[in-house]
Order: sequence, then structure tokens, then C-alpha cells
Amino acid sequence: MTFVFPPQPTPSVVVGGESARFPVRRIFCVGRNYEAHAREMGKDPTREAPFFFTKPADAVVDDGATVPYPPLTKNLHHEAELVLAIGKPGFNVSEVDAWDLIWGYAVGNDLTRRDLQLEARDKGRPWDWGKAFDNSAACGPIRKATDVGRLEQGFIQLTVNGAIRQQADIADLIWSVPEIVSILSRAVRLLPGDLVYTGTPAGVGALIPGDVCVVEIEGLGNLTTTVGEAAT
Ligand code: MN
Repeated sequence: MTFVFPPQPTPSVVVGGESARFPVRRIFCVGRNYEAHAREMGKDPTREAPFFFTKPADAVVDDGATVPYPPLTKNLHHEAELVLAIGKPGFNVSEVDAWDLIWGYAVGNDLTRRDLQLEARDKGRPWDWGKAFDNSAACGPIRKATDVGRLEQGFIQLTVNGAIRQQADIADLIWSVPEIVSILSRAVRLLPGDLVYTGTPAGVGALIPGDVCVVEIEGLGNLTTTVGEAAT
């Protein structure tokens, strides 16, 4: 096959302890998956079916990146999240079988143009402009599930310039890791390279140029993202 011009490189993420990178196919994100965060967003944290949104694969940025302050917003927010890295195909998988699809785990930051997201939400419009912008999917080095095991608990925290903003435990997820994978696989056929951002705990807040945002999850290490000046 030939192309009329060279295709863009495949988006990818660092794998901890390896030179080979994890190729990213699609990025799925779960909305409101911690009770206290659902409340702070003005929603009732009842256990209704989870909902999803997506980001383009090339929105992914590595640990240590400086992300330019994005256009159109006056309220860029951080969202600390556990990220699942899918390594096997799966369609209609059970919760028991869902674990087999998970190649690894990473620390993520679901960067959000909160003003655009809330305007879209309140007008019944798509969330894309609030969520799916350039460099919006910060992702730390992926740790292999064969090393980490099944991730069902462990602290998750986020600091901005050293001050704690978000602090919770993975065990507080409304929808657990295998439940998310199983439910998602009923909607789409999951394939190797898919990333799943599993939702953020309470404490989301604004970032401004110069801020250094660090997310940590027990057993998975850190993800550091610096906010730069707006791109010109
Ligand atoms: Mn999120």
C-alpha cells in the first residue's frame, strides 16, 4: 500500500523499564466514577450505568512533558486517573475474563477544558471540545500487569506545585477495573493498544502556566506534567 503523503507516526507511551513503546490505538475515558467527584460536579452518585467519552490517540503525552496551555479555555483542569492498557482483543468479555485483556497500568491525567465541558454538558452538546484537545491525555510509563498483578486498591493522589489537590483510593471506584473493561467491551471491540482512563476522584481544579502537576498511584509511580504558556 502507498499513501499520498507519509502518515503521522503511531502515537505511543513509554513502558517502564523497556526501550520498546506501547502503541496507542484508541483512548476511552469513564465519566464520574468516584462518588465524591460526582457530587462536586453537581451530580447524584447513584450507581447508574457508566458512560464513556473518547480522546484522539495522538492526544497522548508522556511523563515529563510540558503541555502548552490549550486554546479556547480559561479553566484548564487536572484529573488524576488510573489508566488501563489493553493488550488483547476483547468483545463481550465477562468481568472474570476482563483481567486477561489488561497488558498494563499507568498513571494518567485527563486534562480538561472545564468551562467548555460544562457548557457542552448543560446544552446537551458533545464533550469533545472540553476533553479531546491536543495533549489532553497525559500518561506515565506503563507498568506490566505481569509485574503489578491485579490492581484493585492503592492510593491515588495529585499535587500541584507540591500541594495536595486530590487524594483517594482505587478501591473507591464506583465501577471497578474488570467491570469497566467488561462493560466497555459490550459497546466496542477492544483491541491491543487501547487505553482506558478510569475516572477521577474529587478535588479537580484549575492549572495555570508554570504549574507542575504530579499524579501518583501506589505501585505505579509518578506522572509529572508541566503547564506551559499558550501555543502561538
Ligand atoms: Mn476524567
